[in-house]
Amino acid sequence: MAKTETGSKRRVTVLGSTGSVGADTVSLIALEPEKYAVEALTARRNVKLLAEQAKRLKARRAVIADESLYGDLKDALAGSDIGAAAGVTAVIEAAEMPAEWVMSAIVGAAGLEPTLAAARRGATIALADKGCMVRAGPLMMELARKHGATLLPASGGQAAIFQCFDFERREGIARLILTASGGPFRTFDRAAMAGVALEQVVPRPTRETDAKTSVDNATMMTLGLEIIGAARLFDMPEEKIDALVHPQSAVHGLVEYVDGSVLTRFGSPDMRAPIAHALGWPKRLRSSAARLDLLTGASLTFHSPDMARFPAPRLARAALRAGGSGPILLNAANEVAVEAFLRQRIGFLDIERVLETTLAYLPNHVPRDIADIRAIEAMTHKFALRVVSLIPPIFMR
Ligand code: NDP
Repeated sequence: MAKTETGSKRRVTVLGSTGSVGADTVSLIALEPEKYAVEALTARRNVKLLAEQAKRLKARRAVIADESLYGDLKDALAGSDIGAAAGVTAVIEAAEMPAEWVMSAIVGAAGLEPTLAAARRGATIALADKGCMVRAGPLMMELARKHGATLLPASGGQAAIFQCFDFERREGIARLILTASGGPFRTFDRAAMAGVALEQVVPRPTRETDAKTSVDNATMMTLGLEIIGAARLFDMPEEKIDALVHPQSAVHGLVEYVDGSVLTRFGSPDMRAPIAHALGWPKRLRSSAARLDLLTGASLTFHSPDMARFPAPRLARAALRAGGSGPILLNAANEVAVEAFLRQRIGFLDIERVLETTLAYLPNHVPRDIADIRAIEAMTHKFALRVVSLIPPIFMR
């Protein structure tokens, strides 16, 4: 741990502190506040929670992405010596503050630039946001190498694999295996899937993030995006990353070694455990994550994903093999298709039609920088929207 002007405290920043992952991170930090000096906390619109967290952790700065809320944040922090800032650039500046450890938990596209900014100054970055590696994996890895940043996966299969992956002796690794729950339509045939209603995919009114995640789980795109992220984070070729459907979600990722040994991280699917692992790494921290009861919860089943019924992981593999902008096109087309499904403009199986058409028509470019990535995303969004517009609305079928 680096010695800093704050003594032996570890300086930390939480990007997206008001979200589910961010709030869990804040709670862990608050368990042992004497160990940490909080540089910055950031949110999009939730001023109230952001200000509460900033006061509780005595943060140096609280940043709200929505500029129109600057006055509200100033008022909420009145009487404290916490700096207030607002706007997209201010979020990036928060990531540039000298925290040794940064949680990347902003959802969606907005998390990329701040995470890259933290990598550029050599921080240790806990990556809960899997999108960063999909949108900009090569750029992120290059910056990490160049500036000595450490990328710690903090969610799902990638976090599990990280705990079992022997980085010193990687020649001994035969393959990685990621698991997926299979989603709510695991046992449905294609005809049944064609008719699923929005409420079957997103059962109750939830946060925006949950709705997108629910659709990605149902199409098994989550697995596809995990495969892309794992290939990049662990520098493994696509053919050495296998996938299994594992409905109990007790095993998220496995590493098979050349001698036939298979290592995994076994545990309940409670995000507090991988967050604690990333915050404490390389040590272990106590966390209140739910414990897996091996006596009652140890019935584990695995089977191969059915790529004919669920094409999303196959499309993700093709995008990964294509390289260049392949994963960016896939991710951007998926954003548009999922949004159209959530608006009930297209049906469940139309999501894959949008992906297939977009990937078939758009050319592959190798992005040189973040500006290229954003331009490719914008072009893909436009194209995928056009594909959506050509699909007959579901109420007319
Ligand atoms: P949430 O939606 O709960 O929180 C997202 C956070 O990002 C909030 O702090 C939100 O602020 C902030 N935010 C949203 N949009 C912007 C923006 N445009 N600019 C700046 N800040 C923004 O998401 P989660 O915590 O659930 O997930 C975070 C990441 O971790 C995601 O990438 C997700 O896929 C991943 N992940 C989450 C898991 C989970 O169990 N929750 C599991 C595995 C991965 P505000 O509250 O003000 O809107």
